[in-house]
Amino acid sequence: MIKEAVIVAGGLGSRFGNRTAVMPKGFIEIDGVAMVERSVQKLLAAGIEKIIIGTGHCNEWYDKLAEKYPAIQTVKNNNYQNTSSMGTLEVCAPYVTGDFLLLESDLVYDAAGLRVLINDERSNVVLASGPTHSQDEVYLETDDAGILSGVSKDASKITKLAGELVGITKLTPAALKAMCDYYAANRAELAKLDYENCMNAVAHETGIYVRTIQYYTWTEIDNEQMLARALEQIWPHIQENESLLNIRREVLLNPGPSTTTDSVKYAQVCPDICPRELEFGKVMEQVAEDLTALVADPKEYVTVMFGCSGTGADEAMVSSCVPPDGRILIVDNGSYGNRLAKIANVYKENVTVFKSSTYEPIDIAALEKEIASGSYTTLGIVYHETTTGLLNPVEKICPMAKKYGLTTIVDAVSAYAGMPMDLKKLGIDFASATSNKHIQGMAGIGFVVCKRDELLKQKDWPMRNYYFNLYDQYAYFLETKQTRFTPPVQTFYALRQAIIETKQETVEKRFERYTACWNILVKSLDEIGLKMLVKPEYQSHFITAILIPDTPEYSFDKLHDYAREFGFTIYPGKLGNINTFRIANMGDIRPEEMQCFTQVLRDYMHSIGVC
Ligand SMILES: *Cc1c(COP(=O)(O)O)cnc(C)c1O
Repeated sequence: MIKEAVIVAGGLGSRFGNRTAVMPKGFIEIDGVAMVERSVQKLLAAGIEKIIIGTGHCNEWYDKLAEKYPAIQTVKNNNYQNTSSMGTLEVCAPYVTGDFLLLESDLVYDAAGLRVLINDERSNVVLASGPTHSQDEVYLETDDAGILSGVSKDASKITKLAGELVGITKLTPAALKAMCDYYAANRAELAKLDYENCMNAVAHETGIYVRTIQYYTWTEIDNEQMLARALEQIWPHIQENESLLNIRREVLLNPGPSTTTDSVKYAQVCPDICPRELEFGKVMEQVAEDLTALVADPKEYVTVMFGCSGTGADEAMVSSCVPPDGRILIVDNGSYGNRLAKIANVYKENVTVFKSSTYEPIDIAALEKEIASGSYTTLGIVYHETTTGLLNPVEKICPMAKKYGLTTIVDAVSAYAGMPMDLKKLGIDFASATSNKHIQGMAGIGFVVCKRDELLKQKDWPMRNYYFNLYDQYAYFLETKQTRFTPPVQTFYALRQAIIETKQETVEKRFERYTACWNILVKSLDEIGLKMLVKPEYQSHFITAILIPDTPEYSFDKLHDYAREFGFTIYPGKLGNINTFRIANMGDIRPEEMQCFTQVLRDYMHSIGVC
């Protein structure tokens, strides 16, 4: 990571005439903020921690700026009147300790340029742009390898034009040293050498490349005319580009996809890569192993992933895990249990549905009786019924089913990574989940954590499905580190980041955070006078089904739209003739935000006379 920057700011700015006689050029303001200060802000936002400013003319302005920004260290070039940018860079050199960004002080630029250089895998890179028609262009030439091979203000002296010098460069201390050595050797004749000429002189030996962003938005400001142009044309464009990257925070209180962190959102911006490259295969392999490790021992369990939503993972599991002549018993106590049964029916499996209340706990004795009476091979159940927030006691049901020799398949989509779980202890052979609920990634990857020896049993079963065949997807990945069909590449990078963040927070602490949010909600419902569908002791803490108030004034749509104005998205929930609305607290949601939401809810309920 690049942590340092040097801004060369010793110059007189004489082309501005009177205006810069008493202040450095960098302090000319664009939209109320000095150019150099805005540059400092962009550097800090890009992760730079130390900014060395080489000063000269009116240096006290910079010293004052340094008081405001502790990251700034100023170094004065006492000979600024007789030297140029290289002279100023030279006085900064002793303070540079690692790879750094070098910038001129009079730039107005899109922060994207900083990220492009920081992310470029090469160590020494000069940023160039397409034609600016600024009348003060510095043209850059490159050789066949892309290395800087010429710098000139005269276009006719350039043979292979790479672009125009922007004034932002990434360099290593070694390249800086080579530039300083070159300068020292030539100082006698050429004291006023600019840094770009020194860079050019050492580019070949140190490997300084040119990176061109054809439509890069930037300008240097040397005179009044350039300033006017910057204000009219360049600055609005930069503002627009940068505002596209400022993602407004929305708090999703719907049951997935859930609220994600900005770092997960940004992880999706990655180089295009063919998913058949080994490099990407390794990303998927690590992701799969980490997903397994969150709930089981990777020696005994393995995660099989598909590009799909959570229902896709359910479909893979239900359509793959019932033996050809098998029989599945599915517990249906909500929409998701019902969905499992629908899938089994579509695949023409032998299915029996065990119906149970949507808000009261399952009668385990009755379920055991059913298991004992039938010739079932497989049990299917939902861990957490998202329809109502009812948490099913799989820790009792699955071991019981295993006692009768059944294979257990569990829709754990809205439980996985939200609460600590150990599949082996729970007696779960297959558990489905998705990238976009408690793991806090983006939608697009459905996966099934499988007990390996159970999965291997499927090897010679006739295929009932194609895309969603669990064993085939597993075996192909094992052999090739590839999925059989195109995976959602960017979603994988986001999921990798989401896993890192889950491990940092830990699932235990995540559950505590959810519970803290849930407690805030439950307390406020009580104060408002709203009732929950499920008794608190049977609830997951992940989603709460709330009975709608008994007044014709109530409208879900109005409540939804009102909450949305404050950045909260809520979810309806109708169960037969029971009318509820649902508040989920899955994802990157903080207790303060839930507190804030409860105020919004209270205000709405107050407006319709409920409280
Ligand atoms: C969210 C969810 C699913 C999957 O829903 P998709 O819209 O397909 O992602 C499946 N089961 C349960 C219990 C869920 O909560």
